[in-house]
Amino acid sequence: MEFQFNAEPYRIKVVEPLKITTPEERQQILKKAQYNIFKIPAEDVFVDLLTDSGTSAMSQYQWAGMMAGDESYAGCRNWFHLEKVIQDITGFPYILPTHQGRPAENILMMIHLRPGNAALSNMFFDTTEAHVRNKGGLPIDLIIDEGLQTDSDHPFKGNVDVDKLERYICEKGKENVGLIHVTVTCNNNGGQPVSMANLRAIREVADRYGLPFYLDAARFAENAYFIQQREAGYATKSLKEIAREMFSLADGCTMSAKKDGLVNIGGFLALKDEEKYRQAQQALILLEGFITYGGMAGRDLEALAIGLTEVLDQAYMENRIRQVHLLGESLLKAGVPAIQPIGGHCVMLDMKRFSPHIPQEHFPAEALAAALYIDSGTRGCGLGQLAFGSEDPQKGVIHYSPLEVVRLAIPRRVYTDNHIQLVTESVIRLYEERTKLRGMRVIWAPPALRHFTAHLEPLQG
Ligand SMILES: *Cc1c(COP(=O)(O)O)cnc(C)c1O
Repeated sequence: MEFQFNAEPYRIKVVEPLKITTPEERQQILKKAQYNIFKIPAEDVFVDLLTDSGTSAMSQYQWAGMMAGDESYAGCRNWFHLEKVIQDITGFPYILPTHQGRPAENILMMIHLRPGNAALSNMFFDTTEAHVRNKGGLPIDLIIDEGLQTDSDHPFKGNVDVDKLERYICEKGKENVGLIHVTVTCNNNGGQPVSMANLRAIREVADRYGLPFYLDAARFAENAYFIQQREAGYATKSLKEIAREMFSLADGCTMSAKKDGLVNIGGFLALKDEEKYRQAQQALILLEGFITYGGMAGRDLEALAIGLTEVLDQAYMENRIRQVHLLGESLLKAGVPAIQPIGGHCVMLDMKRFSPHIPQEHFPAEALAAALYIDSGTRGCGLGQLAFGSEDPQKGVIHYSPLEVVRLAIPRRVYTDNHIQLVTESVIRLYEERTKLRGMRVIWAPPALRHFTAHLEPLQG
């Protein structure tokens, strides 16, 4: 056994100072933000675990690449670099640059969905689901049952239930299905991976019924790492080889490069089919920009080309997952209920077990997010009743969200283990005093996507 370096495989050259605030100040800041974590100015947050999207730190090579940006309208050199890198990693011949993930999803659904068509997935990310609906399509999640059980330790909780997939296609008719679109890793249940065997089985079903099969590849490299660590036959393969095999089973992919692209903005759509590519090109020009820059500046294309190679570095990825798991395993060891096994990019605190004394209609996830901010300046994200549920006080009807979690998403290469330690101690402190935690009440909310802008208030007593 080789000596393991359990430390960041990089050192710090530029620092971004963080503001220190007192609990009293944070109490005031939170009140001013109507107890909505999204409305807190980022400068008043000490450890920002709201999302891992677009929050990565870039390397010296990426910053140097930014200076080599070619801002020509057509045919800039950075585009040819990026195109070559993506072709090399994915094996897909046709690449279209977009400014983030969702325009790629929009275009994919434009070229594959007719009104009334179903789109089948393990679990659709919310923007993808919205684009399916926007085309008159029907988004269907077909994840394995274990994927939704918060205490199941299945190694690939992002897998599609292939029996359900085939049954759905048989029952509804393959002519009513537009495409299969599988999210790797599966974001909604905590960054849970999809196995190579599962991707292979999905490919077989797709071939049997003549359906296109795409990947939502936002976290393709983290998924490749879990395959390397957990699936028989992959331990000695490189992340790049594994990623290439994953992509070889699909007809193309959408990607939000704000995750495993290690950049702050960017995305792409990749395809195998030339005819679909022609259609997608027209949509790209209409929605994003010319085909050699999409929605990005030349310098952004260059930073992404470099980020996509860095994310497949074994030392980078081992440290990345090590840090996410350091947070998760430390919390589990202290008895804090978190979704197991810990996924690739975040830790999810299971509020139904954390504070069973707070009913879901009193928003326990938002209550803990608020307490965590006051305790240590940490910003997590409540994902539960406020985001996915609804209440109708007139009729006395409540639609409960199946999930009630606080998500702590870890930005890539941004925080040190000391920050992780601070968050760990803060969560454990709040867990030990969990009976003191009180629910929240909605003062005002818009009709849709209320968790982003709702005004809340702590319940007394
Ligand atoms: C972030 C994300 C998207 C959407 O990408 P944006 O860059 O935010 O538009 C799609 N799918 C998954 C799995 C994501 O995590």
